[in-house]
Amino acid sequence: MTSKATDLSTRPMFCVDWDGTCVEEAWPENGEWLPGAVSSLRYLSSVGKTIIYSLRCHLYEHDEVTLRPPGAAAAEVAGIRERLDEVGLHDVEVYPHDRGKPPALYYIDDRAVRFRGDWVEVLDEIRARELTRDMAALRKERDESTHVRSEYFSR
Ligand SMILES: [Mg+2]
Repeated sequence: MTSKATDLSTRPMFCVDWDGTCVEEAWPENGEWLPGAVSSLRYLSSVGKTIIYSLRCHLYEHDEVTLRPPGAAAAEVAGIRERLDEVGLHDVEVYPHDRGKPPALYYIDDRAVRFRGDWVEVLDEIRARELTRDMAALRKERDESTHVRSEYFSR
């Protein structure tokens, strides 16, 4: 008989983020499936244990101090479960919030920064991403002010 521990030693665990990885980022709504996500989750769960690990299922707000309303986390778990079941991904589990970091061999997350043994590389990537975020904010600000200006001059 094979125990769950033995399963994990022979079959890898894949820890997969939900928002921005499986579905479009649409907090607090659940976004649409991202292209390739369903078939990839199906493949991963055929290869190993596949779990969804999401902040949605946490008992606390993002400030890590404020408790979310009673039942909020359970409702999120149920919501993800429903989306997985709708597409037949019954083997993909939603990881419980109280178990800490999952013992996965692979973490798949749109916010991940890969560590390859070089912290300079990590910080370089973060700096590049932060610059991209700053530029996006600047472009938005510029476009909005251009929009306001063009509306003003079109009167
Ligand atoms: Mg994400």
